[in-house]
Amino acid sequence: MSETTDTIFGKIARKEIPADIVYEDNLAIAFKDVNPQAPVHILVIPKQPIAKLADVESQDHALLGHLLLTAKRVADQVGLTNGYRIVINNGPEGGQTVYHLHLHILGGRQMGWPPG
Ligand code: 5GP
Repeated sequence: MSETTDTIFGKIARKEIPADIVYEDNLAIAFKDVNPQAPVHILVIPKQPIAKLADVESQDHALLGHLLLTAKRVADQVGLTNGYRIVINNGPEGGQTVYHLHLHILGGRQMGWPPG
């Protein structure tokens, strides 16, 4: 899938299309993945439309920290006490399909390694 300036996640962040939102603040929003790969599968995105991890710059370090802290907070909120996995797919070989930076929170089952 190609990179575009706007994506489905931008529309979710702007509330133009619905999503099952589990957390929101001024910088980030977390919502359930529409095609879950685990019993718990939540996406954390910045409201700011950064296409992918490879595009972030040093001035984004506070935002990146905020996204990770948000993922931890949401994992705690939904009760993932036995652990969970955080995934960022980057670019075509990373398996990224939506070009708006997002962290996957996957949990509720035993994860395998290596990932596919
Ligand atoms: P990626 O492959 O880019 O890392 O992950 C994109 C994720 O977004 C996939 O897990 C996919 O199921 C999810 N997704 C795609 N479109 C939508 C949508 O419209 N709503 C929600 N909630 N999730 C979506």
